[in-house]
Amino acid sequence: MREIYLDNAATTAVLPEVADAMRPYLTEIYGNPSSLYSIGQKGKRALEGSRNEVASAIEAEPEGIIFTSGGTESDNLAIKGFAYANSDRGRHLVTSPIEHHAVLNVFHELEKQGFEVSYLPVDRYGMVDPEAVKKIIRPDTILISIMLANNEIGTIEPLKEITALAHERGIAVHTDAVQAVGKIPVSVKELGVDMLSLTAHKIYGPKGTGALYKREGIKLAPLFEGGHQEKILRPGTENIPGVVGLATALRLATGNLDTEAAKISALRDRLESGILSRIDNVTLNGHSQQRVSNISSLNFAFLEGEALLLALDTRGIAVSTASACSADSDEPSHVLTAIGLDPVTARGTLRFSLGINNTSEEIDYVIDAVADAAEQLRQLSPMR
Ligand SMILES: *Cc1c(COP(=O)(O)O)cnc(C)c1O
Repeated sequence: MREIYLDNAATTAVLPEVADAMRPYLTEIYGNPSSLYSIGQKGKRALEGSRNEVASAIEAEPEGIIFTSGGTESDNLAIKGFAYANSDRGRHLVTSPIEHHAVLNVFHELEKQGFEVSYLPVDRYGMVDPEAVKKIIRPDTILISIMLANNEIGTIEPLKEITALAHERGIAVHTDAVQAVGKIPVSVKELGVDMLSLTAHKIYGPKGTGALYKREGIKLAPLFEGGHQEKILRPGTENIPGVVGLATALRLATGNLDTEAAKISALRDRLESGILSRIDNVTLNGHSQQRVSNISSLNFAFLEGEALLLALDTRGIAVSTASACSADSDEPSHVLTAIGLDPVTARGTLRFSLGINNTSEEIDYVIDAVADAAEQLRQLSPMR
């Protein structure tokens, strides 16, 4: 059977070039970068070379890059680390209700620990209004965390405006840029953010490797105690193959960004117009323009997204309902309910997330399969 992978917002295949770049650091140059002999020092050079590469991809200083185990850890280190290290200045934090769980659940935990968290409203496209930021911030606000691009609906947030407003009041800004990196140009200089999270496995790199960018002068408390690695902010022997994979994946993703984004958005438009013209009562969730090129969240009225997902799986197509992280929970997506869908309607959503390996021939097959499966399921649906 064919295999068509349309869940690239959940994770991606490692590119052959990335695997090739990593391989020597698994088998030959395995020394500990803290060791003084040459095999260790070769690892150290790879680590620092990768740091330079990651920094330059987001227009940051290499000193500001902290390697982590991925997006979740970067988000935790940024938010908890900042809250703990700066709580003497205030205990009020701001975020949005459509953040990834790696951000939202950190805030929920901080609430239990006595921090106060305010959630900015989003409109029906999932956009935060910078004007709302003005109203929500207080003298004791220390941090705002807003994602750059949403992982379920692809909406791109007005980070630059939010950052400008926050900085007028001396408030730090973190952004989870996991879904934006490699899809739109991401520059910490341009955005003005103080901290930014990214991960390798959403951009054709290995799972379990990410980075947090931190502006000079931003104080963080480490999440772990240990050795002196990553300026004590992230102790533990460095994952050299992972870091080399991250740097390589990031270099390829940012280097080919314009051509890949144009190609992928053309495929996405083909998919959307195909589905919308063939099937009744389908609507787009999120913003039709202000979004990343690869994500299309479509709502199918009178259908269960999960039933459609399974029907597509039997045809060799991998898609998700809302996000991979909530696939095993019964709750409707917090993102879709935040943009105003009622819980029953929200369940009729499928997220298609395209990648660099998809072809127009695959998209045509998918359109046929979705039309076919939706037709069959709707005939059986008691919701109709
Ligand atoms: C995938 C994802 C994460 C988590 O990254 P991991 O590397 O899987 O821990 C965080 N935020 C967003 C927006 C994501 O899409």
